[in-house]
Amino acid sequence: MADVIDTQLVVLGAGPGGYAAAFLAADKGMKVTLFDARERPGGTCLHVGCIPSKAVLHAAKLITDARDAAHIGLTFAPPKIDINGVRGHLTKVVDTLTGNLARLCKARKIDYVNGRGRFVDGRTVEREGGARYRFENCIVATGSVPARPPSLNLDSPRVMDSTGALKLEDVPPRLLVVGGGYIGLEMGYAYAALGSKVTVVELTDGLLPGCDRDLVVPLYKRLEKILDKIYLKTKVAKLENTPKGIQATLEGEEVTDKQPIFDRVLVAVGRRPSSRDLGLDKAGVEMDDKGFIKVDERRRTSVERIYAVGDVAGEPMLAHKATYEGKIAVEVIAGEPAVYDARAVPAVVFTDPEVAWCGLTETEAKRQNREIKRVRFSWAGSGRAMTLDRTEGLTKLIVDPESERVLGVGIVGAGAGEMIAEAMLAIEMAASARDVAMTMHAHPTLSETVMEAAESLYGLAVHQMPPKK
Ligand code: NAD
Repeated sequence: MADVIDTQLVVLGAGPGGYAAAFLAADKGMKVTLFDARERPGGTCLHVGCIPSKAVLHAAKLITDARDAAHIGLTFAPPKIDINGVRGHLTKVVDTLTGNLARLCKARKIDYVNGRGRFVDGRTVEREGGARYRFENCIVATGSVPARPPSLNLDSPRVMDSTGALKLEDVPPRLLVVGGGYIGLEMGYAYAALGSKVTVVELTDGLLPGCDRDLVVPLYKRLEKILDKIYLKTKVAKLENTPKGIQATLEGEEVTDKQPIFDRVLVAVGRRPSSRDLGLDKAGVEMDDKGFIKVDERRRTSVERIYAVGDVAGEPMLAHKATYEGKIAVEVIAGEPAVYDARAVPAVVFTDPEVAWCGLTETEAKRQNREIKRVRFSWAGSGRAMTLDRTEGLTKLIVDPESERVLGVGIVGAGAGEMIAEAMLAIEMAASARDVAMTMHAHPTLSETVMEAAESLYGLAVHQMPPKK
């Protein structure tokens, strides 16, 4: 019989949901046991996701910025790309960040268990082949894993998911990216900048399904220049190993070459919750038909004392949502009156230009048949965008027609991901478009486009044509 250790809180998974929850719980005085199969905390986001991908995207942006500088009279020699050096930057960032997290974990006297935990019953978790932990409360924060449909399940080291793509083993001359979503576009852009000929194949009729189309247009136009091909409404029906490389069978009206050959393939067609093999059935925790753990607004599952946060607990699968939920779950456990009542979740696609949005989108408003007012400010009217030679951007506000409250914001343009924070604050603080319009914004900055979009609701945007009288 395995040893049984008593602990107050078990957290399964040390990603942005799990480690944030564990740290807060420890700060509140709880005895915490944090499980993760990786040696150090950080989860997918820090080890093989958000953070390393941003390190590569930084390199990609430097390359494309240097190339584009020719527009403003600066010509650089083509870059010499040392992929080991780029990988070295990525590895250093990941090592530093996860090392810092491990230290923060230790300083909080959290018991970090390097191994998978599995429920034995509704009060006990077992470390694979090791001790049992009897908990007062448990938070499941096991995240998600890449989805791989059977048709794309070719056994080859050249068929990669996002983790494989971030290994940066080489710069493949021909790369196929299956899926025109977050990962497909970020990594497709990065590899194209590094020198690959990239083909992106997307099943639906547009890139970034779900995102408003007017925000995608400037990104599409730029990607069209940097990528080799973008196929929409196209399916990758089959992948096969051939002596020349991986042969893909493409099914789509626009496709000219139906069986192109690639050196590598990145499959980025979504992720699924990591809820299998956790013994959730033994604990009695209910899941939905997609494998997400069912939770209420306090992130409680169907079993008392067991909570779930982050990707495993539902869409959107974003690190910041996981962190937010992790803190809510801990506050609920601590007896505080906490509830998940975020009015919006920001989404950022870190391509160049970046696309960012939060709150109500136009697409969603249409789907709900909800009346809204939409105001837009083109970056062609922004002095700052002109100085940066990046006038393709667009900032738009979705406003409630009666209260004039800001319900949603969408931005496409250089640095949109940083700008969306102001929009989030406006939505959380229930600001009206007038509040935003009357807030002084520093000049010359791109953030002025948020103010001018709000001003345009009243026909007062200085750098826009006046409304017709
Ligand atoms: P995604 O859902 O963003 O995109 C998947 C895309 O693949 C969709 O456009 C879908 O229509 C398409 N698709 C599905 N099956 C296909 C097929 N057989 N052939 C061609 N296209 C197909 O998923 P992802 O890009 O894999 O990313 C997974 C999740 O990771 C995202 O939902 C996101 O939450 C998260 N993520 C976030 C960021 C970020 O915040 N910047 C970055 C990367 C990943």
